Amino acid sequence: MGRSKAGLRDTNDVTLRLHNTLTGKKEEFKPVEADHVRMYTCGPTVWNYAHVGNLRAFLFYDLVRRHLRVSGYRVTHVMNLTDIDDRILDQAMHAGTTITEYVKPYAQAFFEDMATLRAEHVEHYPRATEHIAEMVDMISTLLQNGNAYIADGDVYFRIASFPKYGELSHLDRAGLKAGARVATDKYDKESVSDFALWKKSQPGDEKIGASWDAPFGRGRPGWHIECSAMSKRYLGATLDIHAGGVDLMFPHHENEIAQSEAANHAPFARVWLHSEHLADATGEKMSKSAGGFTTLRDLVAAGHDPLAVRLFLMANAHYRSRVRLSQEALHASAEQVRRLREFADRVNRATLTDADHAGLVDRTADVRAAYREALDDDLNLPQGLGLVFDHLREANAALDAGRFGPLNKTALLGLIDDVDAHLDVIRAEEPGLADEVERLIAERESARKSRDFARADRIRDELRERGIALEDSREGVRWRRVAPTAAERS
Ligand SMILES: [Zn+2]
Repeated sequence: MGRSKAGLRDTNDVTLRLHNTLTGKKEEFKPVEADHVRMYTCGPTVWNYAHVGNLRAFLFYDLVRRHLRVSGYRVTHVMNLTDIDDRILDQAMHAGTTITEYVKPYAQAFFEDMATLRAEHVEHYPRATEHIAEMVDMISTLLQNGNAYIADGDVYFRIASFPKYGELSHLDRAGLKAGARVATDKYDKESVSDFALWKKSQPGDEKIGASWDAPFGRGRPGWHIECSAMSKRYLGATLDIHAGGVDLMFPHHENEIAQSEAANHAPFARVWLHSEHLADATGEKMSKSAGGFTTLRDLVAAGHDPLAVRLFLMANAHYRSRVRLSQEALHASAEQVRRLREFADRVNRATLTDADHAGLVDRTADVRAAYREALDDDLNLPQGLGLVFDHLREANAALDAGRFGPLNKTALLGLIDDVDAHLDVIRAEEPGLADEVERLIAERESARKSRDFARADRIRDELRERGIALEDSREGVRWRRVAPTAAERS
């Protein structure tokens, strides 16, 4: 049954409640297999850089997985990379290159962004174009079962064959126009349309490497089928958790359910989690197709610390509330990061008295329990963090007054550990990094003095690749964190 690792809780002692979009209610969470959670999350379409709205969803996935792990679960987490869709095809044709070549820098940028934002590496990052066989299999099954049909060489899912369609997004099918067919990957809520599972090859597809053989004709997959096929490949027919941004609920997630359940004759995802939009400064939903979108690179170039961006996206608002991106909010998050780090530093260096501040020990234990409870209650990180910040005031006062003993220190370091298990901004620096950077700065200075500028430049470039930028100032050389650049490929 429950395993207990150092610092982790036993799953038997945890009551996790998650808001399930399927039922519209908060429910107690239990995976099918005790102690092991199978989770699928919709990843990026690598046709461009991810915008911060996408990143909010990706960091929400990071919060879910971290809290599951803190709660004692083993997590198998799959996040797909969509490397073929209408937009990628258009862009590759325009650029006169193959889809594989076209998406390369954007896929790499996605992993760099995730690393810069300290998102944990998940267990599997399957790419659509590497799982065409699984998709062809599933489409063949759907054709055999009568859930799909061929029209003009394309294959469509027959919505009329799946009465549950619309259950997730609580669509009223009666009021919607049904029966139309759409070949594009995205469409409006007004038409519950038979959607494309497979699109026959068009002139030019071959040349950009976007065409595959299938028993039902040469072509390429529609967008929705990849998630059904790849989740089955890595996690089986039934998932414990499926998460995504709220904009994917319809039609994408409805389509995933229809494809998977019609093909597998098993429930698809037991719990659906949806994170809300990030709004831009004007309050509009941020989207790439609407033009005005901000990337992590933009924010870092404007001087924002990636850790502040992380804290803002994860903790400024509950994941089911909209949040608005603004300079002020990012600055406030940067200030929170600073306060947390400064506090941790202060506790670590505190001169301890023999006698503990007993009241503070008790209250720290209470806050620690309340923090965990907030996270157990549908991942309410903003609420939990609010309690912690309130508590810092009392703890700082005790430190100021010199009433701070060994038990105070242990209790507060425990609280900091709990918070950092989710946020990962307090002890974000790799141990020894500051010393190593200082050593390299000194080495660069001596290289410059001996006029070995090539060596000096090489040191600067290597640091830049690791996300450290050097700035020459009157006081000497300073360094700060920036988004890491890609290492040169040779
Ligand atoms: Zn998906």
